[in-house]
Amino acid sequence: MERTLSIIKPDGVGRGLIGEVVKRLEANDLTVKAMKMIRMSTTQAQGFYAVHKDRPFFGSLTEFMTSGPCVVMVLEGENAIERYRTLMGATNFKEAAEGTIRKDFATDIEKNVVHGSDAPETARFEIGYFFNSLEIVA
Ligand code: ATP
Ligand code: MG
Repeated sequence: MERTLSIIKPDGVGRGLIGEVVKRLEANDLTVKAMKMIRMSTTQAQGFYAVHKDRPFFGSLTEFMTSGPCVVMVLEGENAIERYRTLMGATNFKEAAEGTIRKDFATDIEKNVVHGSDAPETARFEIGYFFNSLEIVA
């Protein structure tokens, strides 16, 4: 069993896609172990995306992520990190496979509806960034 962090980004929440995303997770044996809605401050978004701080899109990305509420979730399942990334599709929706969340709903390379951790170490960091152990069901 593995855990990963999922975020439904402000474009996804704003367009009424919470249910659609959660439906796809549950249909694919990714169990929601924690869930909450948050509105990130600029400092919080910059801390979350610190690995991207030198990328040209960092300012725009952190501004977008603070532009409205996000739904953050801890997902659990066999090989959850990779399986959730497969469900999300490529970062650039134009390159995303048919049937993926980003192919079906993303409108922009930045406004791509969802986030998912990319490795066990980043999953641990990202889950801990938003949740304490009491907030994650056993
Ligand atoms: P995420 O980390 O959100 O799950 P990812 O791992 O597919 O997505 P990263 O390379 O980690 O993509 O980039 C993080 C986020 O930064 C992307 O999801 C997207 O919102 C934004 N982003 C990435 N590349 C670009 C770009 N070239 N221009 C604008 N925004 C970008
Ligand atoms: Mg990433």
